[in-house]
Amino acid sequence: MLTSIFSPQQCSTCKLCCNFHRSSSWETPFLEPDLVRQLQVFHVELLKRPDGSFTFKLPFQTNSDSESANCPMLDPSSGCRLPREQRPFECRIWPLRVMRLETGSAVLGCYEACPALDAATFAKLSDFAHVSLRQLIVDHAMRFPQTIRSYHPHYRILEALPELDGSDSSFAGTADNRSLSE
Ligand code: SF4
Ligand code: SF4
Repeated sequence: MLTSIFSPQQCSTCKLCCNFHRSSSWETPFLEPDLVRQLQVFHVELLKRPDGSFTFKLPFQTNSDSESANCPMLDPSSGCRLPREQRPFECRIWPLRVMRLETGSAVLGCYEACPALDAATFAKLSDFAHVSLRQLIVDHAMRFPQTIRSYHPHYRILEALPELDGSDSSFAGTADNRSLSE
């Protein structure tokens, strides 16, 4: 979805989006119901969140707080094993994210630490998000409000999404996806 902004080479050497520290494991992507069915052929373990939605179970090896783990769909040498159009929506729009502020307002934000985001790329991404992706993002968040995440200061706010104000509360996340039921 963002291949006109980010080159596959940049992402294949970075992979930041696909590696999760234990403290940020609640950020593993929401898996749309169709995708949950398609994932059966990959035999990856999934976790059920308290809201009934599914995400990936991360293959942590220890209980250390400093441990990080790759998404089980990541092939370290070649990247995500899913075809682009089948990836979770949150992965497809990353580093963009729909978030809810403490005021209850919904916004579109951009993860500022993405190493590919220099000033020119950020400007291009902001324009592209507003012109080409905004409605798609709003429609998806209306359908799956679990993907509206709590605001985090590592994200720069690009624009307000008033269409999503007052919709169902978001999945705010827990500190550790070990706590989710399987
Ligand atoms: S953080 Fe940025 S450069 Fe790295 S994989 Fe994600 S989108 Fe690509
Ligand atoms: S589904 Fe693919 S793109 Fe998304 S976090 Fe996993 S490996 Fe990365």
